[in-house]
Amino acid sequence: MSAHARPTRTSFWLAYSRRLHQKPAAAPVSTPRRSSAVVTIGFFGGIAGLTAAYLFWPTTYRGAPTVTARPLSLRHFTPLTVTASEDVGPHLKLITLHVPPESRPDPTTSEDPLAMQPIWSLFVKDDDLQVERPYTPLEGIDAEGNVKLWVKRYPRGEVARWLHAKRPGDTVEVRGPQRTLPMHERELEEVVMISGGTGYAPFHQLLHDRLLLDRPDDNRSNCRLTLLHGSKNVAELPPPEYLGPLFDYAQKHPDELAIHLFVDEPPAGGLDRPYNVTPGRIDAQAIRDRLGLPDNNKRSWWARIWGNGTPAHSHTRQVFTHDGKILIAVCGPEPMVAAIAGPYGRNYSQGSIGGALAELGFKASEVYKL
Ligand SMILES: Cc1cc2nc3c(=O)[nH]c(=O)nc-3n(C[C@H](O)[C@H](O)[C@H](O)COP(=O)(O)OP(=O)(O)OC[C@H]3O[C@@H](n4cnc5c(N)ncnc54)[C@H](O)[C@@H]3O)c2cc1C
Repeated sequence: MSAHARPTRTSFWLAYSRRLHQKPAAAPVSTPRRSSAVVTIGFFGGIAGLTAAYLFWPTTYRGAPTVTARPLSLRHFTPLTVTASEDVGPHLKLITLHVPPESRPDPTTSEDPLAMQPIWSLFVKDDDLQVERPYTPLEGIDAEGNVKLWVKRYPRGEVARWLHAKRPGDTVEVRGPQRTLPMHERELEEVVMISGGTGYAPFHQLLHDRLLLDRPDDNRSNCRLTLLHGSKNVAELPPPEYLGPLFDYAQKHPDELAIHLFVDEPPAGGLDRPYNVTPGRIDAQAIRDRLGLPDNNKRSWWARIWGNGTPAHSHTRQVFTHDGKILIAVCGPEPMVAAIAGPYGRNYSQGSIGGALAELGFKASEVYKL
């Protein structure tokens, strides 16, 4: 999951701080006196650059007011009360926020009626540092106005650490909804989701909405859905109360949903949950096996031209039906996204396709990095 999906000031800061940690390929040759002058100029130049970036970097967030008694919106922050915060794994919390009735968006009158179509997220503002980060409500906003966030804390991460410290009764300000994945499901036949860690949250929101909510049949997705999810270990898998119902659904409707779980560290004393996990990371071989792709990796030139990519293994679940009717969405820590789909481009744009999916012959138009 890119820390920040668009060129906000925060993503600039993170990208900048990462660049600071990179070593130059070759050190310039200079005298000590000249190099100290260069360092001084570089230092003040850097400060001036950062100040300019702070002042001029475009972001809707800067200056967004805080308002109450109005529907949630990207244009302002809305204070919400934390009603629960429970540990659900190492460095992982399930945090519940309550949206009062007057702040619940009404899609029929909203400024963007599609904004709450899965997959969407909310920006949470860290009041201390005045920075915001997006988080994905696992089940949207439920009938009682609850928003559940599954949040991982990083040792040096700012906002998640701040959010983990919040207790029931505290207030956090949110901005959104913001649509994260533009998806035209009616044009698709197959949606494959590949997630790592809390990168599962956006896909849970989609699967919960499409498969578990009681909704009229014509609103249901006709796509076949496949989730490949990886966590470090079993304790860091998505909470069972969320994963469990989807597993049950997949067992009852294998043609609609398939779920494959992976863990870096195999469980030592067996698995205390009723589903199978595969030891190891999600790589090209794992994707090929789980999607039933042919062993020779690539789709043939014939399939590419005529759109008939039916895999050779007729006994496995077939993915390629028609070219362009598959979407593979990838969400997780940046190194994982890079290994599976290639690195993000500048300012967390999509970049070119690489990694395992390129190796398997997928095209950039079939892949989306959240
Ligand atoms: C659309 C979207 C939805 C998301 N949904 C969720 C969700 O549901 N749940 C969830 O947990 N996350 C989610 N995220 C990720 C979330 O927005 C944050 O990026 C994440 O919580 C980290 O933010 P932070 O402020 O805690 O860490 P940051 O301060 O942004 O740091 C992030 C990482 O960089 C490292 N780092 C920090 N400072 C430096 C530095 N100076 N140099 C090098 N490395 C550094 C940290 O150690 C950490 O590993 C989502 C992201 C997007 C884009």
